[in-house]
Amino acid sequence: MNIYILLKQVPGTSDVKMDEETGTMIRTDRRNVINPLDENALAEAIRLKRALSDVEVTAISMGPPHAQRALREAIALGADKAILLSHKGFGGSDTLATSKALAKALLTSVNGRLGKNDLILCGERATDGETGQVGPMVAAILDIPVITFVRKITLEDYLLTAERVVEEGLELIKTPLPALVTVIKDINQPEFPTLAGKLNAKSREIPIFSPDDLGISNNEVGLRGSPTRVVKIFKPKLSRDVIMHQQDSSGAAVDNLISFLEKRGAI
Ligand SMILES: Cc1cc2nc3c(=O)[nH]c(=O)nc-3n(C[C@H](O)[C@H](O)[C@H](O)COP(=O)(O)OP(=O)(O)OC[C@H]3O[C@@H](n4cnc5c(N)ncnc54)[C@H](O)[C@@H]3O)c2cc1C
Repeated sequence: MNIYILLKQVPGTSDVKMDEETGTMIRTDRRNVINPLDENALAEAIRLKRALSDVEVTAISMGPPHAQRALREAIALGADKAILLSHKGFGGSDTLATSKALAKALLTSVNGRLGKNDLILCGERATDGETGQVGPMVAAILDIPVITFVRKITLEDYLLTAERVVEEGLELIKTPLPALVTVIKDINQPEFPTLAGKLNAKSREIPIFSPDDLGISNNEVGLRGSPTRVVKIFKPKLSRDVIMHQQDSSGAAVDNLISFLEKRGAI
């Protein structure tokens, strides 16, 4: 059985830098980390690998060449293999183009092809883009079941049971494989890499694939393959006025407050 982790490298700070001219994210900052929820997805794959026999864990990322660092870290944490989709043709991809490339990598021989007993794990969302679209889109393109917001997974005879967090409580969902699951942080506590893991990762080759290698045309990925565009980016301006209504025995402060709220249609 193969477990694939879709793993994104994200800025290690909450200060995501954008190019205001092009509306695209600046990804040259070297302080990058594995998207935190993808670490949970990876930790879950390692847990399943320890619990079941004959499981191979592969981390797949699409991003700039320095995303190899995140993939090397994934190997240090216990992934067996890692592959990177990186080429200027992928640049400017929106969530649909990203999902198409990832789905294609799962289907083509670069990755040994998605099998009938395989599982794909993703984070529920990435801390930079934060759309939460990539997991469900990949599943839709592959035409396989998707379960989102998962906090617990059990696998028995290739039947997956997932506990999914919803507003009203929990949903228990069963699905045959192959399936895609997006996880939340409650699912586990990721471990730190061991020294042996780090040494192993250091010497490992991370193969890099281009759209050509995946058999994708340049019209399907990058800006040309992206139906959405960032039209404008700006920081929202917050302005606050403080009006003090001093309470006294006349009760005027309460009347003033009520009339203020009425004027604004709040009551
Ligand atoms: C309109 C638009 C235009 C954009 N233009 C650009 C651009 O020009 N340049 C640019 O660099 N980015 C651009 N982006 C951002 C890029 O599309 C996203 O980085 C990417 O699609 C992932 O989306 P997300 O961050 O919302 O991931 P989410 O959907 O929130 O991520 C959920 C999960 O999907 C998986 N995942 C997500 N992305 C990847 C990935 N790349 N590799 C592996 N797994 C992944 C991870 O498991 C992650 O936890 C654009 C986005 C939009 C919406």
